[in-house]
Amino acid sequence: MSDNTSLPERLYLDFDSFFASAEQHSNPALRGKPIGVVALDSAHTGCIAVSREAKALGVKTNMPAREARVLVPDMIFVVARPDVYVRLHKRILAVIETVVPIQHVRSIDEVVCALLPSEGRQRQALAAQIKAALLQEFSPVLTCSIGMAPTELLAKIAAERQKPDGTLVLDVAMLPAALADLKLEKLPGVGDGMRARLAAAGITDFPALWALAPKQARAIWGNVEGERFSQELHGTHAPRSATRKRMFGHSRVLPRDWRGPEKVEDCARQLLAGAARRLRRTNLRASKLSLSLRSQRLRSTRAKSAQAQRWHWGGQFAPSRDDRSFGRTLAQGLAEARAHIKFSPHAVSVILHGLDSEADLTADMFDMLSDNADDRARWEKVSDMMDQMRARFGGKALSLGVHDAVPGGYVGGKIAFGRIPEAEDFEGAIGEDNDTHFCTF
Ligand SMILES: [Mg+2]
Repeated sequence: MSDNTSLPERLYLDFDSFFASAEQHSNPALRGKPIGVVALDSAHTGCIAVSREAKALGVKTNMPAREARVLVPDMIFVVARPDVYVRLHKRILAVIETVVPIQHVRSIDEVVCALLPSEGRQRQALAAQIKAALLQEFSPVLTCSIGMAPTELLAKIAAERQKPDGTLVLDVAMLPAALADLKLEKLPGVGDGMRARLAAAGITDFPALWALAPKQARAIWGNVEGERFSQELHGTHAPRSATRKRMFGHSRVLPRDWRGPEKVEDCARQLLAGAARRLRRTNLRASKLSLSLRSQRLRSTRAKSAQAQRWHWGGQFAPSRDDRSFGRTLAQGLAEARAHIKFSPHAVSVILHGLDSEADLTADMFDMLSDNADDRARWEKVSDMMDQMRARFGGKALSLGVHDAVPGGYVGGKIAFGRIPEAEDFEGAIGEDNDTHFCTF
């Protein structure tokens, strides 16, 4: 190590094939076997996670179960059990924190830690210590990959680089050479759309991306995110600035056959889910929900808009970011709407507002004092996990009910959306860790 090599300031920890490993951890009979985790007991659904044994045989995440079975005839399929993974997640956090404090929980199986210079100097020992602590508490199937680097982005890239069970330190002095072969779509935040934009700008490999000036990156991204990405990539922390966003909302104009109460309610729930997902990409919580319905399409002239009948309802709740808190409030609003609305709604709008930064202590205080603080924390994690699953595997991975597509297309993202499981879906399903839900196909 040369003298000008800087100490890693961030440690990123990412579990390997988390849902599949969690199933193997919970049920020793599954260890060492090719496992596929699916959201539904149907051969037509994609695998939301596959075990390392399955990966070694060529099965890929998101591959339809049917296809995976052709490839690996003795593949075992199990239905995802989010409650079990959330419980495990909590225990994992506690174990990691015995070694190093967690700065942010990024997903159900990813955390980032800010390292002190003394910890940075001990990097390899520190990673080994975390892995040893996990091994002591859990079975050897539950492995993680650890990346350490000057910034969170680089640490995350490093963690992804040596899966499974890897440990990698990335220093800016090693770049771009150390990542020269990294495919751009493997980079966090670079999806198909961004890859296409980069390609259009002549950026098709990592060294070219590395050579981009922050201003150029900003132009390609089309927003400040590009500049942030470029800075983090070059080893400069670029935390997201505190957002001053006031609300997250969605609205839809309803076609004729969507104006009955059930369809309107269905649409409102989907709009809410889209708004909630956008909110959860920030560090904010909402404490108010507005539901608005109006009787006709508003046109530009004042005369016409004045004719439109409107109905508005607002609900308040403890600062929240989980789907259950929002869903309960919306349900109250929808019940009010059923009781009071005398017109056929042509448009529906759902807005989450009363935003409060998560850093705001009052939210935490409220959580601590609240009777169901634990409950809410659990639902926040579930909501985060669902978002992540949707982002990775498409909304259909979590479609537990039959739903028509919302008129006007996608809600709050580029993925079709199905109903988010409600409390009852979970309560009925909560079981022992070792109660594996084997698929019947
Ligand atoms: Mg992972």
